[in-house]
Amino acid sequence: MTSGDLGANSLTTPVVKVGVDSGTGAQMGAFRRFAQVAEQVGATTKRLAKSALLGHYFNSLSDEQLAYAARYFAGYVFPLKEQRTTKVGGATLLSALMLITKIELETLKTQLVKLGDLGDVTAAVFPDRALSSLDLTDVAIALEQIAKTKGSKRKLEWVVKLLKRATPLEAKYLIKLLSGDLRIGLKEGAVEDAIARLAKQKVERIQWVNMLLGDIGATAVLARHGQLEQAQMQLFHPIKFMLASPAEDLVEVSRLLPGEFAVEDKYDGIRAQAHIAPADPANKSAHGIVIDGIRVALFSRTLDDITTSFPDLLAPLAALARGTEEGETTELILDGEIVPFRGEQILPFQELQKRLGRKAPTEKLLAEVPVAFVAYDLLYQNGMVLIEEPYVQRQAALTMLPLAIPRVRRAVSQRFSDATALDAEFLAARDRGNEGLMVKALNSTYKPGRRGKDWLKIKRAIATLDVVVTAAEVGTGKRSRFLSDYTFAVRASETDPTLLNVGKAYSGLTDLEVTELSTWFQAHTVQEFAHGKVHVVEPQIVLEVTFDRVQLSKRHKSGYALRFPRIVRIRHDKPPEEIDTLETVRRLAET
Ligand code: AMP
Repeated sequence: MTSGDLGANSLTTPVVKVGVDSGTGAQMGAFRRFAQVAEQVGATTKRLAKSALLGHYFNSLSDEQLAYAARYFAGYVFPLKEQRTTKVGGATLLSALMLITKIELETLKTQLVKLGDLGDVTAAVFPDRALSSLDLTDVAIALEQIAKTKGSKRKLEWVVKLLKRATPLEAKYLIKLLSGDLRIGLKEGAVEDAIARLAKQKVERIQWVNMLLGDIGATAVLARHGQLEQAQMQLFHPIKFMLASPAEDLVEVSRLLPGEFAVEDKYDGIRAQAHIAPADPANKSAHGIVIDGIRVALFSRTLDDITTSFPDLLAPLAALARGTEEGETTELILDGEIVPFRGEQILPFQELQKRLGRKAPTEKLLAEVPVAFVAYDLLYQNGMVLIEEPYVQRQAALTMLPLAIPRVRRAVSQRFSDATALDAEFLAARDRGNEGLMVKALNSTYKPGRRGKDWLKIKRAIATLDVVVTAAEVGTGKRSRFLSDYTFAVRASETDPTLLNVGKAYSGLTDLEVTELSTWFQAHTVQEFAHGKVHVVEPQIVLEVTFDRVQLSKRHKSGYALRFPRIVRIRHDKPPEEIDTLETVRRLAET
């Protein structure tokens, strides 16, 4: 591959005609239909039934309506590739409800605690209106207006204006859309299934095009018209990350990867994907920041745009796009880890913790905790999507890049064919300040969003569990003003998301972290007990906990309890779907 061969078309928009079909779909595009279908989808737990309902509905829509409906059902107000958001908080939505229903805020809040979802509250309290004239396009225009408007007061006016045109059922789904989740048990995958069904295509093909475009709406329209081959990679939207499975021991490594395999250090930072390319002046809504004509975007493992949090990495990353020769530019997507780094030394993760969640870090903080981006994979280069290429080939391309050391580095990839040699390498990696090792299959493709056996992680010897907080309790002593004691849970299994509590911890976090978490838990309380001392909270905050040992216990539903648990860190980078399972707890109990 040459870095001189520029994919000139790779940033252009696919040919998607989103004009309204002549004469058809007007009524089917009614927002009332969308809300009814959403109700039906929410009423069944069967994935096949969900995608059949969607497929049938999609069939009835014009291209423009199809694009909107596919996005909305996948949980996006705007295409994933766009930076735009409506940025309407829960407080604004509650105020809008208050203004329309004239019901007191406290009463609405009590309802929210009872029902757990603002959309459901809306359906219960909204004034009856038999008919509305809202259609999907009206809703889309209103959402654009809300995104464009600055200031929560003016946003509120637009939200109220939109809601006043809606029936209770429509309002329920408008509120859900604005809160960012329809909560009808639908994942993007089911929408992809439905599009595949509509277009009589394999779902893998739809997933591929959706990954290229970062817009499920445009994907649906291309699919319907049999134009999927026109889709070209669009940068500046996150591609789902490939994940690793834990290796039990070295015997398992030998069993899964007989022959030669690659070994990299397992860096203890936060996962990040970097998109780098010459800025397209016509595309101002893209994610990221433009530096000297080069756009750079960083995405987290939770697929959020975290570019502004790492201003110190942007110029060094932009430098990569300049290529090696005069006037040459390169487009890249890199997968890697942001780690705290000073001189030649990787610093402990706790250092990086100080920078996490800071959207606009101060100069002082930037100087105090310098970071580096350690690249370990290359997913795209100059019009070529590399994710279907084998690991060795992606590595070869990565090795050729002129990395802007010290801020941008490459993970060292070594070849091993004897797993027993990994013991010494593990210790060496720990000495270098890293968490352990990653073992990768040489011929493996990059599988977005999948946790397979092609990447194996060999972690620290001390057992830790990633858990999610299910309840927060008022602490004692100087923490009596905060929700500082946390009950936490693991998942029942990889396929069963039921949460089972396994313990309660109150030590390990700094006062600042406790203060921030306490505020978050106050705002995301589902139910209160014991005169407000115990809050059942939305299970969103992931913690890494360590403990003395796992013991059998009747106290928790899981049947286990952690003895002397201690919080190691907050895992803002990890979504609750990826926490540990009961199986891991069981295994730890046996050791
Ligand atoms: P865990 O967070 O324990 O599930 O481990 C998976 C994480 O390890 C990934 O999401 C990355 O953030 C991190 N990681 C560190 N070094 C590497 C590496 N060399 N290759 C892949 N992932 C890595």
